[in-house]
Amino acid sequence: MSNIVAIVGRPNVGKSTLYNRLTESRKAIVDDFSGVTRDRHYGVSEWTDQKFTVIDTGGYVANSDELFEVAIREQVLIAIEEASVILFMVDVTTGITDLDDEIANILRKGKKPVFVVVNKLDNNAQMADATEFYSLGLGEIFTISSMTGSGTGELLDEVVKHFEDVPFEENERPKYAIIGRPNVGKSSIINALIGEERNIVTPIAGTTRDSIHIHFNKYGHDFMLIDTAGMRKKTKVKENIEFYSVMRTIKALEEADVVIIMIDAVEGMESQDVNLFHLAEKNKKGVVIVVNKWDLIEKNNKTIKVFEEQIKQKIAPFTDVPIIFTSVLEKQRLLRVIEVANQVYHNRARKIPTSKLNDVLLPVIENFPPPSTKGKYVKIKYVTQIAGASPMFAFFCNLPQYVKEPYYRFIENQLREHFEFSGAPVQVWFRQK
Ligand code: GDP
Ligand code: GDP
Repeated sequence: MSNIVAIVGRPNVGKSTLYNRLTESRKAIVDDFSGVTRDRHYGVSEWTDQKFTVIDTGGYVANSDELFEVAIREQVLIAIEEASVILFMVDVTTGITDLDDEIANILRKGKKPVFVVVNKLDNNAQMADATEFYSLGLGEIFTISSMTGSGTGELLDEVVKHFEDVPFEENERPKYAIIGRPNVGKSSIINALIGEERNIVTPIAGTTRDSIHIHFNKYGHDFMLIDTAGMRKKTKVKENIEFYSVMRTIKALEEADVVIIMIDAVEGMESQDVNLFHLAEKNKKGVVIVVNKWDLIEKNNKTIKVFEEQIKQKIAPFTDVPIIFTSVLEKQRLLRVIEVANQVYHNRARKIPTSKLNDVLLPVIENFPPPSTKGKYVKIKYVTQIAGASPMFAFFCNLPQYVKEPYYRFIENQLREHFEFSGAPVQVWFRQK
């Protein structure tokens, strides 16, 4: 599924306030990374059980004044091309400005669903002012206050109606996306994999023009590789190159079962790589980390351990992720990447029979029960796996509300220790028996 909601509009209308509201995480644990949030303009949101990615286009605006309007115009065009739904945000306190008019002109020519979101309606008295925005000629308007959240529910109810379901046949083969910052070696590895036996590789044009799906049936594996590297686009504004590549990366990520995050050994895991990791994690995708250009690193017998430790510190607490050290230049461990992606694909799809789960975990729980809170004891009766695309487990007990975060971690680690879930997201729930 590839559902991207792009928030467009001129500065100061409240885009990032809405973005923050939509991506506010219910489970703060995965989001609490100081230093990372600052430069993050895309994130996962969820409404009525439907996940989608939100992009705050304002995060990619050029600094210089002359370029500024060009940049916004270009972003709107990219959003029309790449997003599933566009939220065009305007400000009730200023009314329609020239730039609003200009953006509306571009949006009217596009074919994507557009919602006019009139923001800063903090009280009902402003409702009459909002009607002015019908004159933008983009249909229905939605009045909200990003600050308080009022009106956002009604808006999202409509937005999710425009999401696409994935056609069934697309789900048959494992899909791996190779993502990462420019120049890490994504095209090189794809070329190397294709190059060895060109005749059994069929490039299939993807649903969108430059997203290429390559079908491999070799090395004993039948899979699709989603190539994000080929997508380079000419833009007038430097910041939009990143905006565009982020859009394409998110789409590839959402389509994939397993995300191969490639980093440059010389540069290490940077905040942008960590963002991609968390996006994959939040989308419940399988993850493999590939450290490429390993040939450029001076090595001794501790180098791999040191690298692994550094990466794990940055991706904690989800550290049960395979890390592979490759050199495309020297053709080292390239097939290993595919083998491991395939293992992760199976780990993510793994189903554990209920009897086995209980046999293994109930004794562990008996030895290490949840600590008592306010004199209350949690008694866990049994555990079962819940059907879904990634591993999810429900632990039935008397007082689920008393189970604290550390115990969730403990249980997740036990699941990972006893069963093979490397690279796969594992979700744990405690439920009332
Ligand atoms: P952006 O430049 O479009 O991302 O806008 P921001 O989200 O940074 O918001 C610009 C200003 O508008 C900030 O001072 C916000 O606090 C304010 N703002 C955003 N949403 C609302 C709202 O619903 N009501 C009011 N009164 N102010 C808002
Ligand atoms: P992309 O932007 O991620 O697709 O990166 P490219 O595949 O275009 O590679 C960027 C540059 O890194 C090119 O000059 C490659 O030749 C070089 N490169 C790729 N893999 C390796 C590697 O394993 N070792 C070294 N030394 N250079 C590499």
